[in-house]
Amino acid sequence: MELLKNYIDGVWTSSVAKESIDVVNPATQEVLAKVPYGNDTQKDVDKAVGAASKAYKEWRNVPVLKRVQVLYRLKTLMETNREELAEIITNESGKTYGESIGEIQRAIENIEVACGTPMLMGGDVIEDIASGIDEMMIRQPVGVAACITPFNFPSMIVFWFLPYAIATGNAFVVKPSEKVPMTMMKIFEFLDQLDMPKGLVSLVHGGKDTVDAILEHPEIKAVSFVGSTPVARYIYSKGTANGKRVQAQGGAKNPVVVLPDADIEMSTKIIADSVYGCAGQRCLAASTIITVDDQKRQVKDALYETVKARTTGYGLDKNVNMGPVITPESKSRITGLIQKGVDEGAKVLLDGRNASISGYEKGNFLNPTILEDVALDKELIATEIFGPVMSLISMKNINEALKFVNSGNYGNMACLFTGSGANARRFRNEADAGNIGINIGVAAPMAQFPFSGWKDSFFGDLHGQGKHAIEFFTQTKVVIERWPNIWSRKF
Ligand code: NAD
Repeated sequence: MELLKNYIDGVWTSSVAKESIDVVNPATQEVLAKVPYGNDTQKDVDKAVGAASKAYKEWRNVPVLKRVQVLYRLKTLMETNREELAEIITNESGKTYGESIGEIQRAIENIEVACGTPMLMGGDVIEDIASGIDEMMIRQPVGVAACITPFNFPSMIVFWFLPYAIATGNAFVVKPSEKVPMTMMKIFEFLDQLDMPKGLVSLVHGGKDTVDAILEHPEIKAVSFVGSTPVARYIYSKGTANGKRVQAQGGAKNPVVVLPDADIEMSTKIIADSVYGCAGQRCLAASTIITVDDQKRQVKDALYETVKARTTGYGLDKNVNMGPVITPESKSRITGLIQKGVDEGAKVLLDGRNASISGYEKGNFLNPTILEDVALDKELIATEIFGPVMSLISMKNINEALKFVNSGNYGNMACLFTGSGANARRFRNEADAGNIGINIGVAAPMAQFPFSGWKDSFFGDLHGQGKHAIEFFTQTKVVIERWPNIWSRKF
């Protein structure tokens, strides 16, 4: 079985790691490849950063208009190879082919926005800030930056950072999730074709040891992380303690409020897509659905009918709405959490625990589950499930619902379904979450906007995507100049 190579200094390089782990198709359990793992991967990081530091010195002096030319080419390569890339994503992550195509589109949109870097990277100048003195703020690249990414979006998440980092003049190291490293192997085949200094972008495989090497390397100046909250917190504290700028996106538990004046048919369809898309393995997946007033029965019935009609299966098969979850451990964690909800008093309206997909009996499949009347004072209501499970609860009014929305530790997303502008405006203003959806089920910011997140869903200041990314990958320098005419005339 092939041991995946790293891409360092412009060449595919064998890792020095002695250990490896399997990359497994979650639908079939087929082993797709082996990925380098363990303590020795720290030496791979050293090599990658050494090459990146050299490449950076050359790249930062390439004019920005020329730097973005590589992004136009990258966009074309991603578009031309979209179908092949989507198959790789589905085979290693389990999501459906349509979902894979969707995430590639989001990646491409980030390339497109980063092509605006020649305008976005501009600074400020004020002439005669004092008599005969001019002052300017310029943006310069930070140097070598790195990203560490999760399993659930093998292509898209790297693109919240990489196009902006290189367009602003940095070198960039990618450490993908060891569960889904194949997609980045393909994308680095595209990057290999671009006209950039050798070593400017590198791919280094591994797990915690590789991450620690990134966090400890003095030449890495900025780290972007996306993953679970405990790891995000660790990355942020260790990275910043080592003097790096860090943006660390964490986990989520997303509430959705349905008011009595919402369009029930449309809302419930959108909510079902939000909960069960990507088998619930999305940081913006709706998790807790809060009905208000007396429409509980109506919403519950409509959700049940919509959800029951969904089809689970292998993501490359036609007419499949939902693929498997990532690993057998993840599946048993999710079924354990469903049982915990039941033990805490919830009723099971739809039980997805005994899914069996003909032809894929070994896959990590779960069907959609709906839990009703989940206890508000117990653990499940506050725990990220990251699987195809909906929790239904009810509240008396919007005040109570908002209080509940703001009571959780996470703050990634909160959504409201309503026909009232006044309620929508209030929710937008008062809900404590970084991404808000009004009659939207997955409030995913487009590439022009920061991918926000509050509370335990984000550690740092500047987010990925758009102008925030430009700011994150540049450091400001302020220059004050005096060139009095009288002095000039003397020379
Ligand atoms: P994870 O935290 O287990 O892994 C993410 C990355 O961190 C991987 O590259 C992994 O190798 C590395 N890692 C894992 N354990 C580590 C440790 N102890 N020390 C150092 N590095 C470590 O996350 P995951 O299971 O791959 O992804 C799912 C999580 O990601 C969910 O919690 C989800 O909500 C979150 N997520 C958040 C967003 C967001 O935008 N906020 C987006 C996608 C996923």
